Amino acid sequence: MTETDAHVVILGAGHAGGTVAALLRQYGWKGPITLLGAEPLPPYQRPPLSKQWLRGEADWKSLALRADSFYAANGVALRLGASATALDREARSVTLGTGERLAYDYLVLALGSRSRTLDLPGIDLPGVLELRTVADADALKSALGPGKRLAVIGGGYIGLEAAASARALGADAVVIEREARVLARVACPTLSAFFQDYHRARGVELVLDARVEALEALSSRVSGVRLSNGRLIACDAVLIGVGALANDELACAAGLACEGGIVVDLAARTADPRVLAIGDCTRRPLPLYGRMWRLESVPNALEQAKQAAASLCGRSPPAPEVPWFWSDQYDIRLQIAGLPFDAAETVLRGDPASAGFALFHLAADNRLLAVEAVNAAPEFMAGRLMIGRQKQIPGARLRDMSVSMKDLAA
Ligand code: FAD
Repeated sequence: MTETDAHVVILGAGHAGGTVAALLRQYGWKGPITLLGAEPLPPYQRPPLSKQWLRGEADWKSLALRADSFYAANGVALRLGASATALDREARSVTLGTGERLAYDYLVLALGSRSRTLDLPGIDLPGVLELRTVADADALKSALGPGKRLAVIGGGYIGLEAAASARALGADAVVIEREARVLARVACPTLSAFFQDYHRARGVELVLDARVEALEALSSRVSGVRLSNGRLIACDAVLIGVGALANDELACAAGLACEGGIVVDLAARTADPRVLAIGDCTRRPLPLYGRMWRLESVPNALEQAKQAAASLCGRSPPAPEVPWFWSDQYDIRLQIAGLPFDAAETVLRGDPASAGFALFHLAADNRLLAVEAVNAAPEFMAGRLMIGRQKQIPGARLRDMSVSMKDLAA
């Protein structure tokens, strides 16, 4: 793919879409670039939506991925508030909600993911919210403040971050989780226990092992969450934070392979040489772990944007990165590198009581698979390096605080 005069259409003006547009220009793409997004805003960063933006500590300038003037200045035709509804790969065109057909030479699908919903009585009541967009965050913020109570259904990262931000805004927060611990899908039990204690100490009520039966209303607005044990948790707003689904329907309907995400290779290519896909909407190879996986993170969106831009501009694909992720809650910065698939041992370095520690996950042959670092940047950085090098390291050495992370990584 080196016809750098051809027309690239990017569907989805989010983190991945905005980044690939900029990288294409940086790598020398000369042809027209159209960046089309369903939201009314130019590409912005979503992580602050549950953190600084929700707390009123960020403005548009810091949220936006690039200055608003960037797109016109770099010849990127930004079409906002425009949804793609169908893809015709034979005709190489995309149909928009308005019925208009947009022709492409190359197409990059950067469609992201959407919040999973729950099939519950009362789910459509005013005051029942999700958190994916600026509009969602603004609606949530207006429901928070002193004397207000937020019920969060789902103890994942977004739910916990929103609960922490609600507390910072003076609201009460209750997190209702189906599993026996928060972060059950994404963190090890020690990390879950740490966050549970941290939230409880800051006034968040956690209701674990809970089954939500219905959302109840007063004066046509949500007023409580009814659990299967009969308990009614009164609240002023409900945030549904039960995970996300890939926006892969357009690709599936057009006959591209989808397995809970559009299947791509390490050059962001689908089986159609004219169609690439990047970011939350993809299922991609993880060579370090020998499997396909769907990642929902900014570092992944950036990595795949680099892959797609390199593919289109005829460059060799960048070396695969170690997946990583972060979450900010109160004064805690959690950084995770790698994925603990098939871990045989978990090693604790440091003391959770000091709110500065790391959990290392090792395979049976002592290969480092993943690290979860709480206010522990050296452990995160050295861990990420060691994971990339597939370093084997005995648990006892990782546990030994007299050995520096620099020495361990050497
Ligand atoms: P998105 O940024 O979701 O962009 C996809 C875009 O495509 C959207 O604007 C959507 O409207 C548009 N679109 C969808 N369908 C169509 C269509 N048919 N036509 C046109 N446009 C369409 N990651 C981290 O690493 N750390 C964090 O701390 C973190 N915190 C987060 C907090 C929140 C509240 C949220 C929601 C996400 C967070 N993430 C975090 C995840 C991270 O933001 C995503 O992984 C990242 O935004 C993925 O980028 P993307 O471009 O693939 O998808």
